[in-house]
Amino acid sequence: MVATSTEPGISTTTTSRRVAKRVAFALDDVRPGTAGDVVLAYHRVGARTPSPVDLPAKMFARQMAHLRASVDVMTLDELVAYHTHDGGRTQHGVALTFDDGTVDFVDEVLPVLDRYSLPATLYLATGPVDSGRTYAADGVPITWAGLREAMATGLVTIGAHTHTHQLLDRCSAREAEVELDTCIGRIEDELGVTPQHFAYPKALSAESGGQGVDALVRNRFASAAIAGTRPNVRGATDVWRLHRSPIQNSDQWEGFRRKVAGGMRTEDDLRRVINLVRYRGRTS
Ligand SMILES: [Zn+2]
Repeated sequence: MVATSTEPGISTTTTSRRVAKRVAFALDDVRPGTAGDVVLAYHRVGARTPSPVDLPAKMFARQMAHLRASVDVMTLDELVAYHTHDGGRTQHGVALTFDDGTVDFVDEVLPVLDRYSLPATLYLATGPVDSGRTYAADGVPITWAGLREAMATGLVTIGAHTHTHQLLDRCSAREAEVELDTCIGRIEDELGVTPQHFAYPKALSAESGGQGVDALVRNRFASAAIAGTRPNVRGATDVWRLHRSPIQNSDQWEGFRRKVAGGMRTEDDLRRVINLVRYRGRTS
């Protein structure tokens, strides 16, 4: 679909995104979410890059205030424990996760997490931290010192996200093994912890590639996250296929609220098809 806009300053992309979001809200009304634990996925905060997942600081702070006031925010360790043994708790909750590891995590995210005492997991790609090489137009990597600062708050759990942000559905099992073990090793060496949780880069999982990647991930981590934008239902969730709901700028308040409540899965179904085309031929 090609949308056009006559409004000055509003790009065609923005307009089509808004239209798509309205459609997603309408579909969400006819396809409501089920009850379960929701994992929210954030990427960037501070609106320093043109990325659609780089949220303005004010929007992010408002979202965190809402979570603190209205839902049970749990660590990923707690969430996984509730899914792997009977934790005896019936109330569902939300876990916060952040991807990649960029400087805004220290500058923008950490003060807000600290203000509201919200625990979060940062899925770290270790290669960019070592090299300092920026993500393509999409953020400056965090430093090891910044990561130590984040951990010192007691709120941040470091997870793994491969070494070079390799898309694991398109490399050999041997390459995937090196990616995972290098990432784990660098986190152990620099931060003194062994990451227990993993997120597939771009949420592209072993489903489409196979090649033993799934087994490598299951052998190394207590959980692994994909996309899906739907709740994780207790008793019916594979913790190495944890669904996450990515928060985007275009969600605005309405989309955010729906995602926290476990909705918007249709939007994700559409995005998965688009991403398979978008990342065709790419490896990271
Ligand atoms: Zn990533």
